Amino acid sequence: MKKEVSIAKNLSKQILDRRKFIGLASFSMSEILSPFYKTKLHGKKTIILTEEYRTLRDGHVFCKNNQVFVSVFKAMRFSKPIHDDLYKEIRIYRTECPDFTFGTDYEEYFHALDYKQATLIFHGSIKPALQSKFSFTDDHVRTGVVYCYWIASSDGEPEGPLPVKVRDPDVWWTFEKVKAKIELLKNAYPKYIQVQQIGFTANRKSITGIKVGQGKKCIALVGAVHAGEAGPELIMFVLENLLDKHQDLLKKVSVIAIPSANPDMRDKLALGNPWYIRRNANLVDINRNFPTDWEKTEQNYGYSTDDSQGYTYRGQYAASESETVAIIDYIQQEKPAALFSFHFLASIAGGTLLTSKDAVNDKEYVDLCYKIACPYWKGMNLNEPTKEEIVFYCTAGSLPTWGYKSLRIPTFDVEDPFDSADWAQCAKDQTDPVLLHKYQQLQFQGFTSLLQSISS
Ligand SMILES: [Zn+2]
Repeated sequence: MKKEVSIAKNLSKQILDRRKFIGLASFSMSEILSPFYKTKLHGKKTIILTEEYRTLRDGHVFCKNNQVFVSVFKAMRFSKPIHDDLYKEIRIYRTECPDFTFGTDYEEYFHALDYKQATLIFHGSIKPALQSKFSFTDDHVRTGVVYCYWIASSDGEPEGPLPVKVRDPDVWWTFEKVKAKIELLKNAYPKYIQVQQIGFTANRKSITGIKVGQGKKCIALVGAVHAGEAGPELIMFVLENLLDKHQDLLKKVSVIAIPSANPDMRDKLALGNPWYIRRNANLVDINRNFPTDWEKTEQNYGYSTDDSQGYTYRGQYAASESETVAIIDYIQQEKPAALFSFHFLASIAGGTLLTSKDAVNDKEYVDLCYKIACPYWKGMNLNEPTKEEIVFYCTAGSLPTWGYKSLRIPTFDVEDPFDSADWAQCAKDQTDPVLLHKYQQLQFQGFTSLLQSISS
């Protein structure tokens, strides 16, 4: 049918071109195209099924707790009971996508797939909710696998592709889970925790800040500014274990944390979006939206920060994003001695510390940074002297450049793991609970050592 339509379109274009030339008037487009459309006598009415008039619309897929939920609506034009025949049978097609690579492949990968190569996993009747929405639950899925779905009714092109990755809920925490964990800790250690709503996301989710400890002197941890990277899973482990094992230390120093700074988009990943997401729901890169040198345009990864379609878009004005404002307000309120923002990929961040590229010749600031970085690395006990060097990389409008120039506190993006096998595993979005636990433990050791160092 696709081919017929494209032949019809070409032909109609030729006719229109000729019409311009020979001055033919009043051809109706449907008259020109109708012989090429698939028509179907339905009741007393002939309906035209073309690519433009599909029988299904707004297909959606997500995964939660190792189940995949697929849904679709009747097309508006066929939503009346007279068209019920079109929906007597629903077919669900599915294929696995083993060569889909996180960080390399994005949405376009799925557009190239065709349901004709997929497996029919369901063929039968589904009762639509409110006479309009068909839903299907797939229980036979495996964690870590990328799937692509299509849904078809008795007639017309299937709706799809609908891609989803079945992610381990213990490796990718939903915001719901982060908040439940905070609540649990608050109830277990009420004397050591202060929870505060520090602002809202673009989609009006409430962003949570937590202070753990009784000391005035504190360090700050910020998670998942970039949705597909690291944060809540590492930060909540660090906080829980400090509370569990180091209450003496927490009498002298504190940790303030924003475990999930971009939960709108991180939840998309936790619920199965297969490709990397960086920006917030307004498509702004929060790590280019801070009000320090914001106006300076920078180029990274083939994108320019002034390009609203680019992955590093800085926003319409400095601190335009409510997530950025929430971070700024909380940090300014608590005045930490050092600030760590977790990055890298797929819930893992290692020992690599990046700071503002403009700080490279500022000896006094660099010394301050090493005073923080060295005990952190020492606690991790990785003994990689060539990698235990601060990297001067962060750009205009980034959180580290704001921390350096506007607050003058050591501020780092926490990035790559030192170990190359671990690096490759999370870069491909293959983080499993074992790898996650290794980095939870490393970060816990690093920050315990840092807190011990600044408490004395
Ligand atoms: Zn990042």
